Amino acid sequence: MKLDRLDDFQRTHRNGDLRLPDAGRQVRLLGWCKRVRNLGSLVFLDLRDRWGLVQLVANETEVAPELLARLKEVRSEFVLAAEGVVAEREQKNPNMPTGDIEVRLTSLRILNTAQTPPIPLDESAEANEDLRLKWRFLDLRRESLQRSLVLRSDVAHLIRSYFRRHDFVEFETPILGKSTPEGARDYLVPSRVHQGEFFALPQSPQLYKQLLQVAGFERYVQICRCFRDEDLRADRQPEFTQVDVEMSFVRAQDIQDIMEPLLVELAALVGREVTAPFPRLPYRDAMEWYGSDKPDTRCKVKIQDVTALFAESGFNLFRAASESGGQRRVRALFFEGPQAGAFSRKQLDDLQDVAKHLGAGGLPYAKWGKDGFASSFKKFVDPALEAALKAALGVTGEGLAVFAVGPDDQTSKVLGEVRLRLARSMGLIDESKFEFLWVVDFPLLEWSEEAGRFIACHHPFTSPHPEDLDLLESDPGRCRAQAYDVILNGFELGGGSIRIHDAETQSRMFRAIGMSESLAQEQFGFLLNALSYGAPPHGGIALGLDRLVMLLVGATNIREVIAFPKTAQARCLMTSAPSPVDPRQLKDLRIQIEQAQQWKAGVMFFESVPAEFQAPLGALRTLTANAPTSTSTLVLDGEVVKVETTTL
Ligand code: ASP
Repeated sequence: MKLDRLDDFQRTHRNGDLRLPDAGRQVRLLGWCKRVRNLGSLVFLDLRDRWGLVQLVANETEVAPELLARLKEVRSEFVLAAEGVVAEREQKNPNMPTGDIEVRLTSLRILNTAQTPPIPLDESAEANEDLRLKWRFLDLRRESLQRSLVLRSDVAHLIRSYFRRHDFVEFETPILGKSTPEGARDYLVPSRVHQGEFFALPQSPQLYKQLLQVAGFERYVQICRCFRDEDLRADRQPEFTQVDVEMSFVRAQDIQDIMEPLLVELAALVGREVTAPFPRLPYRDAMEWYGSDKPDTRCKVKIQDVTALFAESGFNLFRAASESGGQRRVRALFFEGPQAGAFSRKQLDDLQDVAKHLGAGGLPYAKWGKDGFASSFKKFVDPALEAALKAALGVTGEGLAVFAVGPDDQTSKVLGEVRLRLARSMGLIDESKFEFLWVVDFPLLEWSEEAGRFIACHHPFTSPHPEDLDLLESDPGRCRAQAYDVILNGFELGGGSIRIHDAETQSRMFRAIGMSESLAQEQFGFLLNALSYGAPPHGGIALGLDRLVMLLVGATNIREVIAFPKTAQARCLMTSAPSPVDPRQLKDLRIQIEQAQQWKAGVMFFESVPAEFQAPLGALRTLTANAPTSTSTLVLDGEVVKVETTTL
C-alpha cells in the first residue's frame, strides 16, 4: 500500500480532549486506528492516541469518493492523520469521555499500515501472559498499562521534586561495582581489561550512599536500579528500582519523619487520604499479634496466646505446650460473627491444608455457630474450658477460633497466613483503604543453619540498638537493630536503618557474622577506612519503587508497572535475553562455557582387559547385545554417565 507522508501535518487537539463545546471546530488529529466499522453508508473509526479515543465518521453520501476509498483500506492499528469537523453525536456514548461528539472526516492520511496484532489489545480479552510479554510493545498500547506507566512517571516526578524541596542532592552511583560477600547473589560482569576479574552490578547503592555521608553531602537521594540474582516471586524482578535515601546526623525517627509526608503525597496522587504519623509497631509485637513482620493491619483480628488455658486439659498436644516452659505455645485467632460461625467443614478442611502446607500438623478449631458449639477437639472441652476460651478470646456470640501449637516461628507462620486468608474470604479487608505502618526494632542478626553462623537480618552496616550493643558478643541473637520497615497493606514498601558509623563497632559486627579480620579488610577495607576518617552518624532507607507503584495503581503483579519486565524465570521474552553470545566476545573475555561433559570413545583394543574396565565393559556388552545402537546410563567411578554405544 502506498503510504502518505506526515509532512507538516500537526495535530490541533489530543483525541481524548474533544468535548461538546468543540462542535463546529475544524480539527487535525493523529493516532492509531483502534477499530473500524463499516456499516454500509456509514464508516466509523475509533482513533486512539496517548490521551484518549475519539470517534471519526464518514458518510458515503457526503464525503469525496477518494476519501471513502482510502478509509476502506484502513485496518486496526494503522497509523493515521485525520482532519474533520467536530459534531454533536446523535447517539451519545456515556462510557467514553469524548462520547458526546464525533469528528466528521474531511481528509485522511495513512502514515503506516499494521499487521493484525498477535494478541488482543482489548482490556477485557484474555491472553496468555507469556505471549503478551513477547509482544510487549503492542501490549503496552493497552489502556491500563499506559495509565500505570504514566502514573509511574508522575510518581518519580513527585519524588524528585519532594526531595529537591527538602534540599537533598541527587546522585548517580556506579553500575559497575565491587562484588562483596553477604546479601543476595550478584550479577557479575567480566572485565576484559583485567583478566579473571569481575565487576558486580549493585544490589543497592548502600555503601556508596554511606560514603557520600562521609564526604559531607548530608542528604542523598537516588532513584536507582538494583540487581539481585535471586529466585523470583510474583512481586520480584532481577532488576528493580529503589528510591534510595541517606541522611547525616539523624535518628530513626528523623528518617521516618521525612518519608511519611512523601508517602502521604503519593497516596493523594491516587486519591487516597492518609494521615501521618504512621503507627510504629515493634517487630516482636508484629510477630506476636499478626504472625508477620509486614502485617496487613486493615484486618483488626490479632493472634492471642491461650497456652495457659490448657494447663489442666486432657488434650495432650495442647497441655504439653503449657508444660514446655514457653518453647511451644498454643496460639489462636478468633473471628467473630455469624459468617465465621457458619464456616463449613469444606472451608475448614481447605484452611487445614494451608496450615499443613506451612508445616503444621493440622488446624484445630472451635466454632460457635447457630447450632451451638463445635470443635475438632470437642471431647476435651468441658464447660469450664469453653467458658475460659470464650472469656480469653472475647467470644460473645457466633464466631470461629483456629489454633496452632508449636514453636513461635512456626505458629506465627501458620496463623499469619490463615489470618489473611480468613480475613480475605470474609471480606474483612477494606480494599479501598491504605494502611501504612512502621515495623521497628528488628533483630540485628539471625542464625543461618545453612551458613552455620549468624547473618545480618538487614545488612551488616546496620547499627545495633545502643542498649543492646554488648549482646553483640554475649547473645547475638537477642541484639536488636536500629532498623525499620515501612509497610503498606501487608506489603513491605521499603526498609532502612541507622548505620554503624565507627570503625570499631563495624569490626565487631563483622566478627559477629563470622568474618575474619583479614577478610573484612580485603572486602570492606574502603568502608573501614572511611569510618575512621570522620564519618558522621547517619542512616537511611530505600523504598521499592516498582512495588510502590503497583500498590498505587492497584495492580497485583509487579510486571504491570514495568515497561519491559522479565518473567519469573528471569528472561525477557521480547528480546530473548539472556542469549548466547558470539564466541569471539567470549574469547576476548577469556571465558569458556562449561559444556555438559561428553566422552567420545573410538575403538579400543585390549590384549587383556585391565581390572578397572572389567565392570564397565561387561555393562557395555550387555548394552549392545540387544540393539546395534543404544543409549543408556552406566555408573563409572561412582558417577552416573550417559553412554551411547554402536556395534560395529
Ligand atoms: N540498601 C538497603 C536495601 O536495599 C536499604 C537501606 O538500608 O537503606 O535494602
